[in-house]
Amino acid sequence: MSRLCVVVPAYNEGESLREFHARLATVFDQVAGKFDMQCEVLYVDDGSRDDTYVVMCSLRDSDARVATLKLARNFGKELALTAGLDAADADAVVVIDADLQDPPELIPSFIEYWREGCDVVYGTRSTRAGETPLKKFTSAAFYRVMEKLSATPVPRDTGDFRLMSRRALDALRRLRERQRFMKGLFTWVGYRQKSVVYERDARFAGESKFNYWRLWNFALEGITSFSTAPLKLATYVGLGTAGLSFVYALWVFGKALLLGDRVQGYPTLMLVILFLGGVQLMALGMIGEYLGRIYIETKQRPLYLIDELIPAARDETGISLQNSASQAGKVGVN
Ligand code: UDP
Ligand code: MG
Repeated sequence: MSRLCVVVPAYNEGESLREFHARLATVFDQVAGKFDMQCEVLYVDDGSRDDTYVVMCSLRDSDARVATLKLARNFGKELALTAGLDAADADAVVVIDADLQDPPELIPSFIEYWREGCDVVYGTRSTRAGETPLKKFTSAAFYRVMEKLSATPVPRDTGDFRLMSRRALDALRRLRERQRFMKGLFTWVGYRQKSVVYERDARFAGESKFNYWRLWNFALEGITSFSTAPLKLATYVGLGTAGLSFVYALWVFGKALLLGDRVQGYPTLMLVILFLGGVQLMALGMIGEYLGRIYIETKQRPLYLIDELIPAARDETGISLQNSASQAGKVGVN
């Protein structure tokens, strides 16, 4: 019998989790009947400050299909997801948010495509209920910029909600970079990808954890992790300004020769100095963005630290979570 593991990163989702699990459990029953699969869910508590972990533990006590993983602190969604994917051991893995914005009811259709031989089946949002026009606009703009800049374009309007086959998961696990832009990494893997269109609901409870500052940093992460175009841009802007300056120098020189130098031109001088200063600072800033990331990467820190990993009751006989023995020592995986 093949196995399905659903990985759910959650940060302060105490209010949504029970409802989420109720809906997921219904889907599990359906999947078990229709596809003859053994289903399991791994809840990853990303250092929540509310009762999320307590709720997770009570779900685990009442449902043998629930496994829980608690991180040592809040590592951010991308790392929580990584921790969950590292621990999951199944033939197909589904990633889904805990806030019910992505409907668990879509999982059976993901499985159908997977059975047909697709390695990555991802949900593409046709609508995004409950989100402000500004968020929709910035999000759309981001995907389009990424498309232009990156060699491995991230599909538009696609979140992390997806199913991955075993080989896609294994490939993903080999990408150990610290600066993780998961959407890009998912795409980088390649293999046979398939999109399923769905309507994104509003959050069930609570608020989005991604404010605009976090989203801006997320976008920077995406661009710098998957494209060196900004570095090239600095080169071309530099070349362009150098060319223009040369032409301008000829003009100034010619004018001085023909008309004499009347010690004017303070405004132009200031303009040129400020402009070049600005361009140089911008180029330095871009280089700095990459340098900072190289710096973080060279430290070779573990990606996350696990506080506690408890397998699903049903699996205590043996199968289940990867390396649970080695992780019981509460070490981080790099
Ligand atoms: N999340 C997480 N760690 C964080 C922030 C968010 O695990 O530091 C989880 C969160 O609980 C949710 C998912 O990531 O299950 C998506 O977060 P959110 O709904 O805030 O993002 P949005 O849907 O607004 O992009
Ligand atoms: Mg959400």
